Amino acid sequence: MGKRVLSITIYGASLTIIIPTVIETNINPATNESGSTVMPTLAFKSINYTGPKQGVRLIVTGAVHGNETCGTKAIFRVIDDIESQRLSIVAGSVTFVPITNPLAYARGERVGDRNLNRNLYPVKAPRDFEDYIANWLCPLLAQHEVLLDLHSTRAQNPPFAMLGPENNAGDLQPFVHYEKERALAKVLGVKRFVDGWLATYARGVDRRVAYAAGTGKQLNPLNTDPHYGVGTTEYMRSVGGYSITLECGSHDDPASPDVAYRAILNTLAHLRLTDASTPLGASTENSAPVAEFEALQMYEVHDKNHADDRFVRTWASFDPLKKGDLIGIRHDGVNVVADADGCILFPDAKAEPGNEWFYVAKTLDHI
Ligand SMILES: [Zn+2]
Repeated sequence: MGKRVLSITIYGASLTIIIPTVIETNINPATNESGSTVMPTLAFKSINYTGPKQGVRLIVTGAVHGNETCGTKAIFRVIDDIESQRLSIVAGSVTFVPITNPLAYARGERVGDRNLNRNLYPVKAPRDFEDYIANWLCPLLAQHEVLLDLHSTRAQNPPFAMLGPENNAGDLQPFVHYEKERALAKVLGVKRFVDGWLATYARGVDRRVAYAAGTGKQLNPLNTDPHYGVGTTEYMRSVGGYSITLECGSHDDPASPDVAYRAILNTLAHLRLTDASTPLGASTENSAPVAEFEALQMYEVHDKNHADDRFVRTWASFDPLKKGDLIGIRHDGVNVVADADGCILFPDAKAEPGNEWFYVAKTLDHI
């Protein structure tokens, strides 16, 4: 196979070393409408609209995971609304990042070199493509006050939003915008909410380190760092903003881009960046005002400790659990049971030992 030649926007000298090896093996060229081959660009791109009046600075991201394209489609649809003057940004500022991870997007895969939505910090000496994204994305996030991050899921789940912590002055994730974040969550157009991610992740790290110390097992250092759980929304909160991850439905569901589109319009209206009293899309199917909410709080993560740890059935996220339900059996015969009513989240039957096996969440009576 001949060598591919790709024109790349300049990132900095050292990136030219890493990119060609990645590109030559893994990127599939697309075909445009005239039938000629188009190589995907790896340039980082954002589009900003600033209204004439003062207001909130919002950023909307799509394709943080490259195979989750509902946000990308929705963002381009909203941009078309603005460019066609069906929608006006009258105050504040909105920045759209339609393709946050262009390498993963070009490959049609979840990640490029690694998961962009973990360990997201600016990096002094970038080693992989996501480090370069971080060095562009983190300062960009810091220029904004609110982040709406649009994702989709492999499983056929209804849409749900991941929310941050209550207001607190702790070390892990200090936060002061609980009320504003929850108010935004309620207008997105989805009814299911999950919080507790970073605190649960950090507790899991403590448990993992203790287990490894007790058994003499070696762990990947990344798996022992509570800050490894920091992705886009956690980073946004760490620089003084508030943020929501919206899982808009499954990757392939044709309704997922509509969920993302409606969420963007509702966010723009809620933050008064547009003056639409009834947001565009409010009359579309599935968009009846949400009156009842389902709130779930993650409170525990269980690692797989041994390759022979096994589930007693095939679990899917949001499968309900009653206190005492048998979830899995450890390789030494110990039963793993639910210790509260709620549901299972993100079960991974194929997890490697020393990594997250499943999360459990309990039902709350408020979001
Ligand atoms: Zn995702």
